[in-house]
Amino acid sequence: AVTGVQTCALPIYTKQFLKLICAQLLLILDNRSLNEKLLLQANTDLLTGCCNRRSFYDMINTKCIHENDCCILMFDVDKFKAINDKYGHDAGDMVLKTIGEILITSTRKDDIVCRYGGEEFVVYLHGLCSKISSFIKAEQIRKLIENSVVLADEFEIKFTTSIGIAMASKLVNNIQDLIKIADNNLFNSKNAGRNRTTI
Ligand code: GH3
Ligand code: MG
Ligand code: MG
Repeated sequence: AVTGVQTCALPIYTKQFLKLICAQLLLILDNRSLNEKLLLQANTDLLTGCCNRRSFYDMINTKCIHENDCCILMFDVDKFKAINDKYGHDAGDMVLKTIGEILITSTRKDDIVCRYGGEEFVVYLHGLCSKISSFIKAEQIRKLIENSVVLADEFEIKFTTSIGIAMASKLVNNIQDLIKIADNNLFNSKNAGRNRTTI
């Protein structure tokens, strides 16, 4: 009786050919996962896991800013230099990481969270098109940040952020103009005493 696979029935060159095909297929799969990994790394801010500025601009083009159905929140950590100076750069990094986590967990699948610069974050909120709902959302996040603590050595580090909001509208429906407005409102939040939201 014949049991199992009779591999020896194949001519030697057929076996070698099949081995070669298998090796090529494995190589293709390896390359594909490597490419996906590289793409993810190129689009992600390593410290916070948020998307980086370049991928934010790439992604925003596919979003419906032109339908005036969104808003932009710009966050800047208050007196962050003092946190670095007092607790060290690594502790400062932990603060940024925590803020990134709060932003990611408080937003939805269609939103985008971006680390825009050193201690600045930009959040695109999909479907938030009224000033009041955008303000409420920004304040919810601001309070979550205000109430969180980072433990570094024996220290409990508290931190706050200032926020500027820009609403998409028929008149302002490109990302550059929205960012400018959000930045201007953020500046007003800083001038008014920090740890607040301006719309
Ligand atoms: P303000 O309330 O006006 O925003 O004051 P600030 O101190 O936050 O602003 P400033 O621009 O003076 O300082 C920002 C600091 O953020 C300076 C810079 O060293 C620090 N920073 C930028 N990127 C990083 C980072 O990746 N990690 C850490 N730990 N610090 C960073
Ligand atoms: Mg700043
Ligand atoms: Mg700052």
